[in-house]
Amino acid sequence: MNIDEYRGILVVGEVYDGKVRPVTYQLISKAREMASSLNTKLSAVLMGNNISQYANDMIAYGADTAYIMEDKVLESYVSELYASVLARFIESIKPEIVLIPATHTGREYGPRIAAYLQTGMTADCTDLQIRNGKFIQIRPAYGGNIMGEIITPNHRPQIATVRPNVFKVGNYDKQRKGETVKVKPDMSNINIRTMIKDIVKTTVTGTKKVDEARVVVSGGRGIGSKEGFSILQDLADLLGGAVGASRVAVELGWMPKSAQVGQSGLTVAPDLYIAVGISGTIQHIVGMKDSKIIIAINKDPNAPIFNIADFGIVGDYREIIPIFIEELKKELKK
Ligand SMILES: Cc1cc2nc3c(=O)[nH]c(=O)nc-3n(C[C@H](O)[C@H](O)[C@H](O)COP(=O)(O)OP(=O)(O)OC[C@H]3O[C@@H](n4cnc5c(N)ncnc54)[C@H](O)[C@@H]3O)c2cc1C
Repeated sequence: MNIDEYRGILVVGEVYDGKVRPVTYQLISKAREMASSLNTKLSAVLMGNNISQYANDMIAYGADTAYIMEDKVLESYVSELYASVLARFIESIKPEIVLIPATHTGREYGPRIAAYLQTGMTADCTDLQIRNGKFIQIRPAYGGNIMGEIITPNHRPQIATVRPNVFKVGNYDKQRKGETVKVKPDMSNINIRTMIKDIVKTTVTGTKKVDEARVVVSGGRGIGSKEGFSILQDLADLLGGAVGASRVAVELGWMPKSAQVGQSGLTVAPDLYIAVGISGTIQHIVGMKDSKIIIAINKDPNAPIFNIADFGIVGDYREIIPIFIEELKKELKK
């Protein structure tokens, strides 16, 4: 491998249910800053079917080149297929740095790409920096007790998966000029062991993605039981949101790990975050502090969560939330 052959940054975008996942634009925005400080080019690639209309958005958020790989077969995610097609593409353009969303899918195909390209990968980064021309990948280590700074100067490409919502979406510049390149996906000789026969969409409550919802209602130890979370779900449903949880609520088995917000869980930045029965330790706050509006409901007036809340309600959630729901229903009827 000749390190000097590798140039530029590539962001791998993701499409879900026909729409670009917000993390795609978050990563492009961060990578734009990085590319400018490294004085290099930024590319972004999107894979799927009927997705070429998104190329302009990738350019408007900062990509110099938007690669589009379209095929009917790529409409549904299959890890072996996505990993092989992306790895072959990456091999052909040789970027120095590759950023992949640390979504459920990215966490699966990212390491496969790294293995295919015989390079390493830093998983689940919560920050990225360029320091003295070096790519620094930052992620919690030892169960979140320290933040590790990882450098991989001898690897090419340097691959990192990055958590959704740790970076903000930057400016959307409609006038920005860039190049759109359609690439024929190389799907030859891929050993696919999974076949998607049908996709069944269900509307079970509670399945909304916590890190993509515009409203998150989270509960902690103060909820008291698994059953207590049903009223949070009612509130979230009314607001079109999702239910999150503190780590304690997850450890007590009241909520799944996929709902955990915080340092060792998800990072969220919704328009509205309602923290119910959550004390507000630093490990929880780092995962939700960038929410636009924070409402805290806690029976302890000295709970630290009130220090970052825009609105605080002191009291028992079992009395407050039913009133909240009633008032909300009246408002929604108007
Ligand atoms: C390495 C590491 C990583 C961690 N990662 C995470 C993480 O990702 N996410 C996370 O959340 N935590 C994480 N933690 C744990 C964190 O330190 C706290 O232990 C945890 O966040 C506390 O959860 P809690 O607020 O639900 O519980 P508590 O701190 O026990 O707070 C419960 C709150 O509920 C209130 N309350 C009780 N009854 C009611 C009621 N009826 N109505 C209203 N309020 C009520 C109480 O006044 C109290 O403030 C981590 C810890 C470590 C060491």
